[in-house]
Amino acid sequence: MASGALLGGGSAYAVRSNARIVIVGAGAAGVSLANRLVRAVEGARITIIDRREEHFYQPGLTLVATGLWRPERVVGHNTDFLPRGVEWVKARVAEFDPEANTVVTDDGQRIGYDYLLVATGLKIDFAAIEGMSPGLIGREGVGCVYDNPDHASRTWQAISAYAAKGGVGVFTRAPGGLKCAGAPLKVAMLVEDQMRREGRRDSAQFIYTAHNDGLFSQPDVNGFLKENFPERGIAIQWHHRMTGIEPEAKRATFATPDGPVRIDYDFIHVVPPMRAPDPLFNSPLANIGAQTPEDRKWLEVDRHTLRHPRYPNVFGAGDCCGTPIGKTAATVKAHVPVIVQNLVRLLQERECDARFNGYTSCPLITVRGRALLVEFDYDLKMIPSFAFIDPLQQHWVPWILKDRMLHGAYNAMLRGRI
Ligand SMILES: Cc1cc2nc3c(=O)[nH]c(=O)nc-3n(C[C@H](O)[C@H](O)[C@H](O)COP(=O)(O)OP(=O)(O)OC[C@H]3O[C@@H](n4cnc5c(N)ncnc54)[C@H](O)[C@@H]3O)c2cc1C
Repeated sequence: MASGALLGGGSAYAVRSNARIVIVGAGAAGVSLANRLVRAVEGARITIIDRREEHFYQPGLTLVATGLWRPERVVGHNTDFLPRGVEWVKARVAEFDPEANTVVTDDGQRIGYDYLLVATGLKIDFAAIEGMSPGLIGREGVGCVYDNPDHASRTWQAISAYAAKGGVGVFTRAPGGLKCAGAPLKVAMLVEDQMRREGRRDSAQFIYTAHNDGLFSQPDVNGFLKENFPERGIAIQWHHRMTGIEPEAKRATFATPDGPVRIDYDFIHVVPPMRAPDPLFNSPLANIGAQTPEDRKWLEVDRHTLRHPRYPNVFGAGDCCGTPIGKTAATVKAHVPVIVQNLVRLLQERECDARFNGYTSCPLITVRGRALLVEFDYDLKMIPSFAFIDPLQQHWVPWILKDRMLHGAYNAMLRGRI
C-alpha cells in the first residue's frame, strides 16, 4: 500500500504507492483518470477495464444527428489516449463485490483492488418504453441521438426524411438524470431551424413533451426557453412521460396527470430514461438506501468528495454518479482532478478535502451558428467562464466553441492535460 510520503527531490509525482487501483470504464472519465493517475502516483498498479476499443466523442452526436457533422468525426480509439503503464483489461465488469474489494468480469476474471474508481457511464433504458428498441432508430420516423454514432446517423436519416415531407414532429424528454439534458432541446431547436432555413417550416407542427412543468433545471435558462419555444411555434405539452410507441401506427403514448394520452407523429425523437448500467445498478455500490427511486438508480457518492460513503476506498466519476445535476463531459473535467487529489490524500493518509461544486456546462445550440453558453453549479447559480458573453444571449462564440474547439479540449482532458 502507500508509503504515505510526499516525494521530495523535485519529483513530479504527488505520492509513491504500490496500491492496486482499478478503473471501470474507459470513456471520458476513465481515460482522463488513468492519465492523471499515472502522473500523480508513482509505483501504483493501475488497471482499466472496458471492452470497447473505440472512443466516441459524444458531445458531437447532436451535430451528427442533425446532419452538421459526419459520424467519422466523433470516432477515436482508446489506444491513442491511454497512457503507458496502465494495464487495459478488454472485458466488461459483470459484478462489483465491494465487500471483497473485487470486480468480476464477464469472461470470468476476478480482479482485486485497493482502490476502485467507477466510471461506467450510464445505460439508455430503451426497454423502459414499451415497443421501443434501438433497432427502430432510423425507421418509421423514429430518432434517438443517444448514445453512439450509429444511432445518431440513423437519426439524421429519419430527420432529413421528415424535414423534406413535414408533418407532426414530437420531441420527448424522459424524467430523471439524463446525460446532456440539453440534447433533447438542441435536437428540437436544430430541426425547427433547419426547416425554417429550407423554407418548409409551415409544413411542420412541432410538439415538445416536457416530463414536468419545466424545460431546463437552471431557472434563467428555463425562463429563456419557455419564451423562445412558443415564439418559434414549438408547442409544449407539460407533464408528459413517454411510456410506449406503436411504430407501425406512428403513435406514441404518454403518462400524464389526466391519464394516458396518445399522440400521432410523422417524426419522433425518443429520449428514454437513463440509469447506471446493470452490474452497477444491481450492486451494493448503488444508492440502495435512497428515499427516491430516481436516487436508487445511480452510484452512491458524496456529492462533493465523490467518495462512496459506505465503501471509502471507492470513488465515482462521470455519468454513473448519483449527484443531483451534471451528466456532461464538462462535469467529468471537473470531477477528475477532485478524485485524483482525494485519492492522493488517502494514499498520504490525509483527509479527502478536494470538493466538486456541481459544475456543469452545455453550449445550448438554439439555431445553426448560435448558442447559449450555459454553465452552473449545485446551487443552479450561473458561473460563466467568459465575462463578455451574456449566458442568456444567443451568441456565435459558444457555437464556434461547440463546432470547432471543444473536441480538441475534450481530447486534452482525456490526456489529463486540462
Ligand atoms: C447526444 C449527446 C450530447 C452531449 N453533449 C454534450 C455537451 O455538449 N457538452 C458536454 O459537456 N457533454 C455532452 N454530452 C455528455 C458527455 O458525453 C458525457 O457526460 C460523458 O461522455 C460522460 O463520460 P463517462 O466517462 O461518465 O461515460 P462514457 O464516456 O459514456 O464512458 C463510459 C464507459 O464505460 C464503459 N462501461 C460501461 N459499463 C461497463 C462495465 N460494466 N464494465 C466495463 N466498462 C463499462 C463503456 O463501454 C464506456 O466506454 C453529450 C452526450 C450525448 C450522448
